[in-house]
Amino acid sequence: MSPGAPPSDERSLVDRALRAVAGLARRGGGDGGGAGLLSADAEDALVDAILSRNADVLLLAKHFAAEQAARFTGHALRAVLRADGAGGPSGAGLDAVVVGGGLAGLSATLTLLDRGAQVVLVDKEAVLGGNSAWASSGINAADPASPGDSVEGYMEDTLRSSGLEDSELIRVLAVESGPTLKWLRHRVGLPLEKVAQLGGHSHPRTFRPADGLAGQQLVTALLKQLKKFQESGALEIRKKTAAVQILQSGDGRVVGISVKDLKTGEIAELSTSSVVLATGGFAANDHQESLIDQYRPDLSKFPTTNGHWANGDGHKLAVLSGADTVEMDHVQVHPTGFVDPADRSAHTKTLCAEILRGVGAILLDRQGQRFANELGRRDYLSGAMLAADPEGKTFTILLNGKAAAEVNKHVPLYLKKGLLVEHISLHSAAVWMDLDVAVLEATLDRYESDAAKGSDAHGKVAFNNLPFRGERYYTGSVTPVVHYTMGGVHIDAKGRVMSGGTVVKGLYAAGEITGGIHGKNRLGGNALTECGIWAYRRCPDSRSCHGTGIRSRFT
Ligand SMILES: Cc1cc2nc3c(=O)[nH]c(=O)nc-3n(C[C@H](O)[C@H](O)[C@H](O)COP(=O)(O)OP(=O)(O)OC[C@H]3O[C@@H](n4cnc5c(N)ncnc54)[C@H](O)[C@@H]3O)c2cc1C
Repeated sequence: MSPGAPPSDERSLVDRALRAVAGLARRGGGDGGGAGLLSADAEDALVDAILSRNADVLLLAKHFAAEQAARFTGHALRAVLRADGAGGPSGAGLDAVVVGGGLAGLSATLTLLDRGAQVVLVDKEAVLGGNSAWASSGINAADPASPGDSVEGYMEDTLRSSGLEDSELIRVLAVESGPTLKWLRHRVGLPLEKVAQLGGHSHPRTFRPADGLAGQQLVTALLKQLKKFQESGALEIRKKTAAVQILQSGDGRVVGISVKDLKTGEIAELSTSSVVLATGGFAANDHQESLIDQYRPDLSKFPTTNGHWANGDGHKLAVLSGADTVEMDHVQVHPTGFVDPADRSAHTKTLCAEILRGVGAILLDRQGQRFANELGRRDYLSGAMLAADPEGKTFTILLNGKAAAEVNKHVPLYLKKGLLVEHISLHSAAVWMDLDVAVLEATLDRYESDAAKGSDAHGKVAFNNLPFRGERYYTGSVTPVVHYTMGGVHIDAKGRVMSGGTVVKGLYAAGEITGGIHGKNRLGGNALTECGIWAYRRCPDSRSCHGTGIRSRFT
């Protein structure tokens, strides 16, 4: 406490400061001040500083704690860091450069800023969002409020799908999913109140907003939070700017990054001790010598759901800086990309979101027969489709009115794009499929009687929105598509990039660029979870983001 301050004053400041910290630790930042939920370590550090009567912290409490709890904790954390010799954003240079403005990059940026860092975010596109903005089924979490689900159940499902016996990364994914969902709801401000069960999951745990599609809403909510930091000068966003080289000192430590302004061609060097690579995957196989050509030439001619930006730029940068890659040949073929009747051979296809099957859509071959469990894993279902129709690879997705009403953001969008067609009778749906209606009647009779028994010959046990017969039906044509790259840059559980068993100091990766989290098959909804976790819960620790590389107390 400042010399001369009366003890009673000091006691009430301590009380005020502790109240602010306790409130934020309980419910997250609600005053728009920017600190957000406190991690347990941040809470410990602040409580220690307050109880030891840290003079700067109590001075801050005097001016901020009563009215602006989030601001108080943000400033107080920086004061504690400075006292520990970590330096602050006012020190020389930037604390971190984040490459990529999808969910992983935006989440990492917000986390770093909340910890008081000075950040530059670069993205080679004119519009931020990447593939994240296209994600529509939702994000997985073992939500403690979700009856019947558990971290263990989520972990088991993910392990089973991955083909791995055990995995530290999957354990982190399952354990950190609940806190990440909480952060998205409370700090980022997106309620994500709806939940569905996707293929390969034993429980409904894929969350989405009631309004709009998951990915776009997440990106919009994050950008809204980041705006405040742009205004304060803590964050600079450079669009149409590509990262071209990671700069390292002789011992391999990151000292900066070269970026190219794609409008002017100018190259600039940004000094920083922390670079977060969040450049997405490499499933866009629409260019020559793509990484898909290199690692999975058998999939070179498959259509893709990915935007052209997902070309593995970040993987190449990481490898040049010494990073290892893992499982680069593990590429996910998603069973349902829409075949657009207006452009059947288009290489880039709109994804027919898995949630349609989650709410009860069924898949039929050209003879009007079901051939697989629509809620099976993606690798199983794509395999069944390729075996059933290796030449045409074309199938029908059939949805009833009740299921369509449940995904009332997706269906109108697909109808508008001409990818789904609405029918007022089963007869009309049969005509669309070029089948006799009696064939469809027989398929649905069998489906409904299997559902009444609780299982079918393909192992399906969850049947939603029955009876199937009703007043409305929706049909679309779908085909398997290259969708996601499970392999990528090798990271440890903290998101640090690895090279020959040691970390590349100052280099982090988050999101689809990382490899090894999903094994041979990613479960639907796990990509957004991975983005959030390795960008928020496992974000570059605050010490390194403050430039000195001293280990974290705040992650
Ligand atoms: C159509 C579609 C639907 C999906 N639906 C779901 C879903 O519902 N649930 C789910 O969990 N997953 C879903 N996925 C997968 C998920 O969306 C992605 O894995 C995830 O969004 C990747 O996020 P990211 O932040 O790692 O990369 P992205 O969101 O792709 O962002 C990467 C960014 O990096 C930028 N970039 C790349 N290279 C450079 C460079 N050299 N310099 C500067 N910038 C660079 C890109 O321009 C881009 O903006 C879907 C994917 C697609 C394609």
